Amino acid sequence: MTPMPLIFAGTCDLAGKVRGKAFPADQLDKRLQRGVGWTPTNVQINCFDGIGESPFGALGDLLLIPDPSTEVKVDFGTGAVEHFMLGNITTLDGDPWELCTRSLLQSALDRLHQVAGIRLIAAFEHEFQLKGEPAVRNQGYGLEAFEVQRCLCETLMGALKQAGMEPDSIMKEYGDNQYEVVVGPNEGVRAADAAVILRELTRSTARSLGEAATFTPIRDVASVGNGVHIHMSFIDDDGQPVTYDEAGACGMSALTGAFAAGVLKYLENIIALTAPSDISYERLTPHRWSAAYNNLGFRDREASLRVCPVTRKEPVSIARQFNMEYRAADAAACPHLALAAIVHAGAQGIEEGLRSPAPTEEDLSLLAPDDLAARGFIRLPTSLAAALDRFEASETAKGWFPVPFAAVYRAHKEAEMAHVAEMDITGKCAAYEDSY
Ligand code: GLU
Ligand code: MG
Repeated sequence: MTPMPLIFAGTCDLAGKVRGKAFPADQLDKRLQRGVGWTPTNVQINCFDGIGESPFGALGDLLLIPDPSTEVKVDFGTGAVEHFMLGNITTLDGDPWELCTRSLLQSALDRLHQVAGIRLIAAFEHEFQLKGEPAVRNQGYGLEAFEVQRCLCETLMGALKQAGMEPDSIMKEYGDNQYEVVVGPNEGVRAADAAVILRELTRSTARSLGEAATFTPIRDVASVGNGVHIHMSFIDDDGQPVTYDEAGACGMSALTGAFAAGVLKYLENIIALTAPSDISYERLTPHRWSAAYNNLGFRDREASLRVCPVTRKEPVSIARQFNMEYRAADAAACPHLALAAIVHAGAQGIEEGLRSPAPTEEDLSLLAPDDLAARGFIRLPTSLAAALDRFEASETAKGWFPVPFAAVYRAHKEAEMAHVAEMDITGKCAAYEDSY
């Protein structure tokens, strides 16, 4: 018997999961045209394999069309070769389906281009943990813990390179068994594709070495969370960087400032899309170096939005390296959906002509609520239910998405919340660790 090589065509869905179907590799040409069949109600499969209330029921047919530019083919030497592509969900007529996350991101990017003539460059920084007990303890950023997993780190970086990414760095992070992996920036949809691919390759790398990796937002509330930090900068149509202005606040161009102001203004309304799990809000608490308020920090790792340091010296190189980082995201979020929400909020800020936010330089958790309010800061929602309410309360934010989106997303998340409702926090963390 000869095994038949298969290619998996997948979509990263509302649960941030890659789901799809595999077909024989020799059918690729046909599948690039006609895709694989897909079902509307699949969008309601949540991260616990429950199905939220669906407006589609058992009805309807869609296509999932693989995009060859996302092809990943990696041989981990464990038997079969991992081979997949991400794709877009379309109607049978070939139009984008209104709940296809990749298409939702594309329309946010199109809007940004229309509003400001700019293109987004983004890089996702990921933290993850290896399941089980750590081989060595007391090893925040430690060499020994890195060496214990050198094989995993080298295999992962090699796999990422083979998948077309530019591996940047990898380290033992602060938490038990926690590692962080960083790849270089990509333009537009490709940046979110890269984030999805990185998560999958991290899990496969770990599996190939007898380990298991989890990107759960937080594994143990007594420790730190696993963040996803999204670095963003802009170029114009000629490829010239437009994020930086020496004379601007913290080096931000007026355009960057307006984008940042939009993100902070609408942060409470979009956070249900960037930190979308029940336990995401355990991570988004003060003093975990994540994000708890709608503030801009200059090189401050507790701000929701951070202006990052530059290491280059020449003005041209500074302008290219300069970027800001959105920290209120985690890997329960679909990267395409999270980025779509951030880009819409930023584009809205540009459209509204907002002024650059003033950076904070103090611990906002020490300020009295009145002081916070007087300075325009709010504590971000402290639960998924509250975050969903804030999304639905904003006609502006809801309006960035096709009409059915908000209700579908709510129903999806309701089923997810119901699954964990009776669990204590340890049980919830275990359930999410199992899923992500
Ligand atoms: N683990 C932190 C988080 O949840 C981030 C730590 C860091 O700054 O790298 O976002
Ligand atoms: Mg980190």
